[in-house]
Amino acid sequence: DPKAFVELKNVTFGYDDRIILDHINIQVQKGEQVTLSGRTGAGKSTILKLLLGLYEPQEGEVRIQGIAASNIPDGDKRRIFGYVEQSFHRVPGTVKEQITLFDKNISMEAVKKVASLTGLQDTIEALPEGYDTICTPELFSQGQWQLLSIARAAAASPRLLLFDEITANLDAETEKEVLQALKRVSGDRTVISISHRTSAEMGRIIPIG
Ligand code: ATP
Ligand code: MG
Repeated sequence: DPKAFVELKNVTFGYDDRIILDHINIQVQKGEQVTLSGRTGAGKSTILKLLLGLYEPQEGEVRIQGIAASNIPDGDKRRIFGYVEQSFHRVPGTVKEQITLFDKNISMEAVKKVASLTGLQDTIEALPEGYDTICTPELFSQGQWQLLSIARAAAASPRLLLFDEITANLDAETEKEVLQALKRVSGDRTVISISHRTSAEMGRIIPIG
């Protein structure tokens, strides 16, 4: 389907000699929200890494809006992908910089918008220096760090959101909060998420493996 937003066509991939993805086909349309589902080790996270262009398939094609994923320049990636994993990677700097990653094209207005979308605005504004507070590991709870990573992913208004088990380490109450943030941020964007728990599944389910 040449109009698919995301397409894996006949993709075969293994990190070494062992094949993990064997001639798989996936299509996701613009604005569609899907969940990859399958046993541990099936290759779900690997699919996101192929989409991010971190690896090239041994066979077949991985395309984002018709462009081979491995040909997307690094400088364009933040405007195309918002990628959220289980753990937050803190950068040395302020709360604001966690969200912007020092990208000067992301305005304070955009920072506040994603903070509000993820429900973090009040928490951040209550800090001694607000958005300019230097981040230390104990500044936020695990759930709040996860909300911050969603804010970071959304800050550059990417067209495609990739969520890998982002509620896996959270208790039920916090999971609910993170899932609500995820839905608000997703809006009408294209979303591919991975989840073991049915409570966190969104949209069409794509079985892997
Ligand atoms: P889980 O549900 O446990 O997260 P998954 O479906 O996301 O599993 P992947 O992380 O994609 O599975 O891994 C698929 C297989 O590839 C596993 O057997 C894993 O050990 C292997 N693998 C993953 N990353 C690498 C790597 N960087 N180098 C070598 N093998 C890897
Ligand atoms: Mg995984």
